[in-house]
Amino acid sequence: MRTIAFIGLGHMGAPMALNLHKAGFAVQAFDLSAAACESVASQGVTVANSAAAAVEGADVVITMLPASKHVESLYLGEGGLLGAIAGGTLLIDCSTIAPATARVVAQAAVARGLAMIDAPVSGGTAGAAAATLTFIVGGEADALEHARPVLQAMGKNTFHMGGHSAGQVAKLCNNMALGIIMAATSEALALGVAHGLDATALSQMMAVSTGRSWATEVCNPWPGVLPNAPASRGYSGGFGNDLMLKDLGLAAEAALGVGAAIPLGELARNLYALNSRAGRGGLDFSSIQRLVRSDPGMATASLNDATPPALSP
Ligand code: NAD
Repeated sequence: MRTIAFIGLGHMGAPMALNLHKAGFAVQAFDLSAAACESVASQGVTVANSAAAAVEGADVVITMLPASKHVESLYLGEGGLLGAIAGGTLLIDCSTIAPATARVVAQAAVARGLAMIDAPVSGGTAGAAAATLTFIVGGEADALEHARPVLQAMGKNTFHMGGHSAGQVAKLCNNMALGIIMAATSEALALGVAHGLDATALSQMMAVSTGRSWATEVCNPWPGVLPNAPASRGYSGGFGNDLMLKDLGLAAEAALGVGAAIPLGELARNLYALNSRAGRGGLDFSSIQRLVRSDPGMATASLNDATPPALSP
């Protein structure tokens, strides 16, 4: 049986570690949060008392951490894990981080004789729980083949995008398109409703027309259109606005690195930043609908109350 060290037991990491445990791998888990450790321990997963202890005797190390700085400091910081991991161990970072950081960490791992792949995921917390995640992989093909049985216990699809950090670049491209499409769908629905259209009828029409997307069919941003979408439960659960904001920031950084123009991506990043500032950072990113929604009552009131602008010569 292969032994897997799993570090980072948050919304995504905990269900992923549990699926590995259920698939028969010997999981040695660790998180800085005691509550996160207790939660997986109560479901039968062995918990180590430090990241260094978790990697002892492991064949594979998986990290699922919030952002670039966490991954960089865990592997390369003072007393970093790379120094504690035995030769021949395979490293899989599933966190969504900057491609530049993924390259630096992978190069340091390779210099120590360790194979590493970046394998950020798509599918959200529901995909993590159901073991249906999509893994978007960068790194050497043989390292991916070595990782495949482990990834298959947590997901359904694996795409090899290229060398180190290619998985992160592809993940950012996907999420940038998603962020833009969600904002565009929200705007279109708000326009229709402001003209008296029914949001459900409009969404049903769009879902079989050229405006169709995941945002119209699966995660519709208008409350009540899809009973299981976050919008229909006060935008709770799902993929947080601030995680989308983080990914759009990473896309902007990646664009700067190669001189690419991403005007819509940058606009979307600003919209999600405004949504966060309006207090919706912790809600699902489809709450961007609230930013562009024009309530007819409010619009009338503000028009009536408005002081006419002074005419300038
Ligand atoms: P989370 O904040 O719920 O969990 C991260 C966990 O990492 C926390 O429990 C934290 O205590 C732990 N941690 C941080 N530093 C650590 C360290 N040095 N050692 C051990 N544990 C440490 O985040 P999440 O929602 O699980 O997301 C994880 C990653 O997956 C992020 O990069 C995110 O962008 C990405 N992602 C999330 C989703 C989603 O729907 N939540 C979907 C796809 C991808």
